[in-house]
Amino acid sequence: SAKAHGKMRFEFFSPQLEHSEQARLALDNLISKALDKDEFIICFQPIIDLRTRRLAGFEALARLYSGQHGWISPLEFVPAAEKRGMIDHITLLVASHACEFVKALEEKYHLQPSVSINITAGQLAVGKVFDKINQLLVEFGMSRNIFEFEVTESALFENRKGCAVTLDKLRNQGFRVSLDNFGVGYSSLSHLKKFSFNTLKIDRSFLRDLHDDEAGQAILSSIIAMARKMDMAVVAEGIETMQQLEVVESLGIHLAQGYLFSPPLPAEAALALYEQDAAIRY
Ligand code: C2E
Ligand code: MG
Ligand code: MG
Repeated sequence: SAKAHGKMRFEFFSPQLEHSEQARLALDNLISKALDKDEFIICFQPIIDLRTRRLAGFEALARLYSGQHGWISPLEFVPAAEKRGMIDHITLLVASHACEFVKALEEKYHLQPSVSINITAGQLAVGKVFDKINQLLVEFGMSRNIFEFEVTESALFENRKGCAVTLDKLRNQGFRVSLDNFGVGYSSLSHLKKFSFNTLKIDRSFLRDLHDDEAGQAILSSIIAMARKMDMAVVAEGIETMQQLEVVESLGIHLAQGYLFSPPLPAEAALALYEQDAAIRY
């Protein structure tokens, strides 16, 4: 009826939808402009070796700033970029900033830390972006073991075969791979059996209230034992308090990352942090 039709039209042109369509376009434009002008900000968050209390490596995290919209989270622009076929460009940008960063650390301090780079489900399934990353490494004259690729578990559900093939290839080429945000949502032990990862990153939501969660601690300590048997490193993500750190250490986790040590920092600030390695407070 005319009435129903009218209602549908109203819903379609509702201010909210109109706004979200506009916002989507604006975001797409922001991304492609930021790519053209190299305006993404690539931050590096230290990963700490708890046994030595020193920096073990960094995770590279992309940020986007817009004068009009303020800070835009990767949780927003990554899916948008993926839809518009721009995600490989972002990853290559992240990878090249990471190369510059590692080069600076090499030249200044003769260090070769590894940098973790996040990749999406689609990128893992298709695998094309890694050819370009290999090219980039050749251009920079750097070896593959500087990079560890992080994939979230949900990625593995989308194209199991494709993911398994790419993961094997990456490992054979000498890259490291880690399973990101383990312990939330989809967690499945069969993934650990089927796909071989170098590192297991335990999601911060799993570690948040661990101090008074005996079942959680029991599960985590089995996960750690299993990881050890499978020759995987374990990283505790999102450590914010001493209390969390103490629990994590008591369970035998050797690597941690979180605001307690340092937030993600722009390259220069992260370099300065490396310079005063011992000055990390926690
Ligand atoms: P992630 O890979 O799990 O990265 C960790 C996120 O936790 C980062 O958020 C980091 O800033 C945040 N974080 C670190 N320590 C703490 C802490 O102590 N407390 C709390 N509350 N948060 C902490 P960020 O940078 O907003 O990134 C969100 C997600 O976006 C990342 O999660 C990653 O999956 C994705 N992402 C970021 N950069 C890229 C990228 O270049 N490519 C892809 N594909 N994804 C990216
Ligand atoms: Mg990550
Ligand atoms: Mg994570």
